[in-house]
Formats: sequence, structure tokens, C-alpha cells
Amino acid sequence: MVPERCSIMVSGKVCIQPPSHVVSVLFEKEEYMIGLVCNDHILLMKRKAISMQKSGKINKGKIRFQKIKPVVTDCVLNLKNMD
Ligand SMILES: [Zn+2]
Repeated sequence: MVPERCSIMVSGKVCIQPPSHVVSVLFEKEEYMIGLVCNDHILLMKRKAISMQKSGKINKGKIRFQKIKPVVTDCVLNLKNMD
């Protein structure tokens, strides 16, 4: 499941804004999701990801931000009707 919040922590507190982008690293044709981020924290996340790459915590691939598509109402209704 995709968490419903931005994964950035600001001075010890988790950001409560809904995420607007999925952050992933592209490495040798594979894509690894590293987190979710809201509009306000895209730059912060980019810096964080770069420092994680420098310290070897994540692969040194291209950092990619993909806009999260809004949930389609019909789709949600269909899922509920499956019960
Ligand atoms: Zn945020």
C-alpha cells in the first residue's frame, strides 16, 4: 500500500500534507520507490535523496519525481461494489 502522507520529517515531526509525487531512483533499468513527497518538500526530498546516495544508503541512479494521479471516483466505487 502507498502511504497517504509525505515522507519528509521537519524538526522531528512528520509532514501531514498529502503527497503529490512519488520519489524513485532509476538504476540499471530497475526503479526503486524511496518515498512520497508533497509539493512543498520536493526540493528537500531531492537534497535528502542526493545525500543518501552519497552515503551509499540508496543506489546512485537518477532520482525521479512522478506526479501522483488523482484517484478516479468510478474506480473506488467499483472496488466497494466487489464485496
Ligand atoms: Zn511534505
